Amino acid sequence: MAWEGIIRHYRDYLPIITNKTPIVTLLEGNTPLIRATNLGKELGIDLFVKFEGLNPTGSFKDRGMTVAISKALEKGVKATICASTGNTSASAAAYSARAGIKSIVLIPKGYVALGKLAQAMIYGSIVLEVEGNFDDALNVVREASEELGIEIVNSINPYRLEGQKTASFEICDALGKAPDIQVMPVGNAGNITAYWMGYKQYKEAGKINSLPKIFGIQAKGAAPLVYNRVFEKPETIATAIRIGNPARWQEAIKAKDESGGKIIDVTDEEIIEGYKKIASKDGIFVEPASAASIAGLIKLVNLGDIPKGSLVVAIATGNGLKDPNTAISNLPPTFTVKPSIEEVKKFIQ
Ligand SMILES: *Cc1c(COP(=O)(O)O)cnc(C)c1O
Repeated sequence: MAWEGIIRHYRDYLPIITNKTPIVTLLEGNTPLIRATNLGKELGIDLFVKFEGLNPTGSFKDRGMTVAISKALEKGVKATICASTGNTSASAAAYSARAGIKSIVLIPKGYVALGKLAQAMIYGSIVLEVEGNFDDALNVVREASEELGIEIVNSINPYRLEGQKTASFEICDALGKAPDIQVMPVGNAGNITAYWMGYKQYKEAGKINSLPKIFGIQAKGAAPLVYNRVFEKPETIATAIRIGNPARWQEAIKAKDESGGKIIDVTDEEIIEGYKKIASKDGIFVEPASAASIAGLIKLVNLGDIPKGSLVVAIATGNGLKDPNTAISNLPPTFTVKPSIEEVKKFIQ
């Protein structure tokens, strides 16, 4: 049967969906779980990458948005609002367009990858660039949503997490069991919360017998959960996780503690290394925040936190094409040649 999107596929696990819920979908989900043979071999583990960058707007945010926008439409809401480091706005814009409702997005000026900004604009959002960071934008959005009665579709919206948890179902369905370990980037901490909810729900339903250890990865310049303090001025090349005061702080700590995992940080240099590595070794082009997974994974193997031979899933949260500037500015320049075979030969010997 053709794929019908996460709501219809996992409806039995989404009790919030009723017969009255109009389903707004772009057929999100069903993303590939790719065995990263080459990097896995180098690290001595059985490594899979869950490539969430292949969702309709290029990130996992679509899983949450299909549920949040469907429920908003059910409520009769006329507009949605969100603060975003880019991917939430792209997703909110697309799903709101599809639902025929207005969307307003607030993004930190100068800190959103080009592709994400283009997406919010082309899908028809009202795009407001805030002179401040994500945390500042989220504070305004909370106020505006309350005062103006507009639906907030950030991950503080519980429906978002309901949708996002389906990624853990897909991983278990593909493997036939839960992985030993999951490694994922953590920004506002909605996704780590959602995955943990999903794994626990699948275990309760008898679909899996064990739970994975969850390892969360933050960027060193935006690592509130690692150092247990708010970062007033978060800084990292991985703009999707450039967040200094995560909304789901306690839930993230709980996911880590209950699962027996850890939350660690990686430097921007390590992120770029992981970014190049997963692309050049296994052909998977992810955005910098997603490469934090790979950087963290390498670090955890070196620290001995991930035993050799483990079955590991790294979450690639977003598509590399969203942020071509980071790829281009971190690689050597290309060569310019005349259109002749002699010229070409000079470069390939
Ligand atoms: C949103 C996002 C994250 C962070 O997810 P949180 O739920 O905020 O922790 C990581 N990577 C990408 C690509 C994202 O879009």
